Amino acid sequence: MSAFWTEFLNAAASHPCPAVPGDLLSPFDIYGSDYYLFPNVPAAPGMPCAGEDRSIYRRGARRWRKLYRVNGHIFQAKRFNRRAFCAFCQDRIWGLGRQGFKCIQCKLLVHKKCHKLVQKPCSNEHVDPIEVKDDANGESTLGRASSVRRVSAEELAPAAETPPAPAPSAPAHDLEPGSQRQYSLDDFELIRVIGRGSYAKVLMVELKRTKRIYAMKVIKKALVTDDEDIDWVQTEKHVFETASNHPFLVGLHSCFQTPSRLFFVIEFVRGGDLMFHMQRQRRLPEEHARFYAAEISLALHFLHERGVIYRDLKLDNVLLDHEGHIKLTDYGMCKEGVRPGDTTSTFCGTPNYIAPEILRGEEYGFSVDWWALGVLTYEMLAGRSPFDIAQAADNPDQNTEDYLFQVILEKTIRIPRSLSVKAASVLKGFLNKNPVERLGCGENGFLDIVNHPFFKSIEWEMLEQKQVVPPFKPRLEGERDLANFPPEFTDEPVHLTPDNDTVIADIDQSEFEGFEYVNPLLMSLEDCV
Ligand code: ADP
Ligand code: MG
Repeated sequence: MSAFWTEFLNAAASHPCPAVPGDLLSPFDIYGSDYYLFPNVPAAPGMPCAGEDRSIYRRGARRWRKLYRVNGHIFQAKRFNRRAFCAFCQDRIWGLGRQGFKCIQCKLLVHKKCHKLVQKPCSNEHVDPIEVKDDANGESTLGRASSVRRVSAEELAPAAETPPAPAPSAPAHDLEPGSQRQYSLDDFELIRVIGRGSYAKVLMVELKRTKRIYAMKVIKKALVTDDEDIDWVQTEKHVFETASNHPFLVGLHSCFQTPSRLFFVIEFVRGGDLMFHMQRQRRLPEEHARFYAAEISLALHFLHERGVIYRDLKLDNVLLDHEGHIKLTDYGMCKEGVRPGDTTSTFCGTPNYIAPEILRGEEYGFSVDWWALGVLTYEMLAGRSPFDIAQAADNPDQNTEDYLFQVILEKTIRIPRSLSVKAASVLKGFLNKNPVERLGCGENGFLDIVNHPFFKSIEWEMLEQKQVVPPFKPRLEGERDLANFPPEFTDEPVHLTPDNDTVIADIDQSEFEGFEYVNPLLMSLEDCV
């Protein structure tokens, strides 16, 4: 046993978890009937069943924009590539990062450092297009989904001060000093579409030279040229690089671009995602849910130790490999550079999994991932979302994001009576609306999870080394079998639509400089082929 685990397990033994005292149960309501995610047989594999809970379906993650309200202005951080001058101090706004603020109503430009000093009221204040909560710092976050939709990409379309740079003349094939060869689209054969999320299309591809199979995540640049959005591309790339060192995270092979698109070539994970499997198995035996929750905990803990909040844990971002081990993918919502005790405040995530502290507009840290693990574990065990509202589909008032957020914030979570006491306890631990009291968020952190009675049978060190045999092995006939991917994706034509010159003309290509990457480890493996 490694020194780390010996130390870790000794520490765990000296911090025993409470043996599920009755008062832990109090904020939760145990109910008797069993609701399933998928009560009927679907018309075709992968299709929704009649009467099933739509909230459990593939729904995109989103970022809500951070806004700062001063004197009627609603400022948003912005990059300025060209000359722009601060309306307060008259100096030029320049420098790296989002150095300036722009009022989304009257378009006033100011330095970030000057925005609080602006005296001139907003000339368009009466427009008041969105609802913004003020906080003590004058810093505000959007808190309501219906408001969020009004801050659309069109409203925030590139302004005159950010003209597009010319498109790169050709995909970057040039070698950076010391780097290995770069890849381009020509190096790959596109085989099938295997998935789609809120930002990306994911393809199964073959690297022609080695005949190896990879997944290729394709993102249209036009979707990420908003000022704040560009940062997540860099973050996604960094986290993919970090992830290449962990068995339960999808690693990166290479990155390249064309004038219209960004490409991440990543490990192909053959067993499909947990959403696909939940759609077929309705709900999982506790033993299975425990195994997945434990492997996911290790993946989250690994990211947290490296200063990354994952922020988008959900069924469709958890993949199963050919043996049945989990792998988290999709790092587009991650927050990097978070030290223990640090917090952040961006309002983002997938509605059903967003933690109450984010909805309350509070600063938050790693706690939000443990909340999401609670939601996901609940879904695995109960076969439905903890926030699924009976009859909601028939009542338009209750079928909104606002209502869902209200339920997450206020409603007592009902745990099916059919679950064991330990399972109920772990769900209550993760789904504690107060992040300070939440399982995994106390002084002992991850230790409290390792030590929880629900995970008693888990041999954590063996688990991390993939030495524990998974409870379920995806059915696979060969390396290229796509039986575990929904036909709604695999039946799609695989080609990428030709570049549209007008769309490309609007893209500021300088934002994507340096995106190219080749993982040196995977390259040396390939060279051995
Ligand atoms: P988005 O950022 O748009 O949500 P994702 O990275 O989550 O995109 O990919 C969308 C879907 O594609 C996932 O839900 C999953 O089903 C599938 N997918 C993503 N990455 C892989 C992979 N490496 N191997 C197999 N399938 C994948
Ligand atoms: Mg996703």
